[in-house]
Amino acid sequence: MEAIDANFDLATMFVVNVLASTLSLLCFAAMACQQQPGAARTSLQIGAVANAVQMLGFGVLLIPAWDVGFPHLISLANLPIDAGPALGLVAVNVFLGRPARANWPVAIPIALGLVQIGYVVWGSDVYDWVLMLLGCISRMSVLLPAAWALWRYATPSQRGPARLAACFHLLWAGLLALRIGLLLDGDTSQTDLAGSSILGLAGRFMLTWMIAVCLLWMIARQLDEQLIQHATRDPLTGLLNRRMIWEAGRARGSRAMALILLDIDHFKDVNDHWGHGVGDQVLAMVAGVIADAVRDEDLVGRVGGEEFMVLPAATGTAQVAALAERIRTAIAGTVLVLDDGQELRCTVSIGHAGAHGGEGRWERLVAEADAALYAAKHGGRDRVVAYAAPVAADRAQNARVMPMVAAVRA
Ligand code: GH3
Ligand code: MG
Ligand code: MG
Repeated sequence: MEAIDANFDLATMFVVNVLASTLSLLCFAAMACQQQPGAARTSLQIGAVANAVQMLGFGVLLIPAWDVGFPHLISLANLPIDAGPALGLVAVNVFLGRPARANWPVAIPIALGLVQIGYVVWGSDVYDWVLMLLGCISRMSVLLPAAWALWRYATPSQRGPARLAACFHLLWAGLLALRIGLLLDGDTSQTDLAGSSILGLAGRFMLTWMIAVCLLWMIARQLDEQLIQHATRDPLTGLLNRRMIWEAGRARGSRAMALILLDIDHFKDVNDHWGHGVGDQVLAMVAGVIADAVRDEDLVGRVGGEEFMVLPAATGTAQVAALAERIRTAIAGTVLVLDDGQELRCTVSIGHAGAHGGEGRWERLVAEADAALYAAKHGGRDRVVAYAAPVAADRAQNARVMPMVAAVRA
């Protein structure tokens, strides 16, 4: 203990680590306060606790500098310091939405912690190389799974900072491996141990700080993702919102383009008879069926209350008609089972049109698909109608009033 007491650098590193843990704690806590309840907030709270216990541990390690004369203090203060990375693994897993069983490696530091307590109580009264070895193994056993989880399970938008954090975890684990190698090699005098501690503490200071920055960066990415989701998606169905699909349609410029418009039949009756909640379930069900029926390259949006739009990548009339028919039959064949066991079916009417060139072609295409949809409704609903060009060009402008259509009823 004298060697450690006498070593100013070690005490300085404790102070530095207390400050780093405190700053990380404040960052995590501040971010947690701003979050809605959910995985991210829980993860930040666990991250804050991880830093709090580390801060506590390093704070206690400073006490020998004031010499309170309690021999087990250094040994036991290392336990909360080891709990920090273990809680860090839990925080990472919670953030990544992994199941609770993914936290099983935490059992290793817990078991090693108990061994350390036993060793301190019945064995050594100084912080010797055995305790240091157990501490290094304990930290490594949770750093490696945390690195793996960050590398493997982050969402595409979080992958950059997550993989950087994984690399810092690996770097830290490498540093610990180096220390384990030195200890097993016989560098076990108190002076050597103090040197090894300084190396570990310096690395730890930089790496915990870097990891904290990466994790906060991941949270910021998640917030960005949520903002983009809110700005571009319909909250009820998860489909593109009207603005997005409109912009996508306009952005197709002079390229060939086709458009499918769908409207649920007699949807008002669903609301009137079953209530708005069931109406919402029907909307979500229909949206899901459309999304499943289209290909990845096709865009699907909700453009009105019970109206949907598909912007297919394929633009040939036969392909578009086949897709529309596939969607219609899939919806007609889907049964929504309500909470009380009752079964509900619905149908849709569909109109589709193909693009022409020239000014305002998107608006014209929408009007033509709308005209075809109107004809499908008039023709008896639950059918697909393709828009057919009117004889007089100006009639397309007023397509809802005078549609020229060809029914493609299955
Ligand atoms: P049609 O076969 O002619 O299309 O008849 P419809 O009843 O489907 O059409 P109408 O336009 O008369 O009614 C559409 C209904 O959709 C009226 C509105 O209350 C309902 N609606 C619009 N948005 C939502 C929503 O977000 N949730 C629910 N549950 N209903 C909605
Ligand atoms: Mg409608
Ligand atoms: Mg309708």
